[in-house]
Amino acid sequence: MALRTILNKRDEALSKVCRPVEKFDEKLWILLDDMIETLKKADGAGLAAPQVGILRRAVIIDVGEGLYELINPEIIEKSGSQRDVEGCLSCPGEWGYVTRAQKVKFKAQDRNGNWYEKEVEGLFARCVQHECDHLEGKLFVSLVEEFVDVEEEKL
Ligand SMILES: [Zn+2]
Repeated sequence: MALRTILNKRDEALSKVCRPVEKFDEKLWILLDDMIETLKKADGAGLAAPQVGILRRAVIIDVGEGLYELINPEIIEKSGSQRDVEGCLSCPGEWGYVTRAQKVKFKAQDRNGNWYEKEVEGLFARCVQHECDHLEGKLFVSLVEEFVDVEEEKL
């Protein structure tokens, strides 16, 4: 495994729509393993492949409920709403309130190409929505309703 560089929001890779993952091969597994190591080092909750410069639909999430790999994820149901402070590893120092669905049901493939479905809520649901936005070239800062001073919020 190796650490990859997390791109800053100014990098144009972060505004591109990503292509589906088609090959579930060693190249994908190396990418996922590198993303896992990079996420742990950065102490984040989620990381999308475009954040390390790979324009493919692959995401990893770890919000303390185990590590999930979402390949070619699609949100198939959304309900409720939550408003909370959000940040992004590609936007260091920027935090702000974003309203998201409280619950989402998504389907995705695992690293071997097997489809699975999962229903999540709260922080996990927020993270799925945030990471899926990355695959569409969309950053959370475009959704922020009110930016906050991280020192004051003690995040
Ligand atoms: Zn992000």
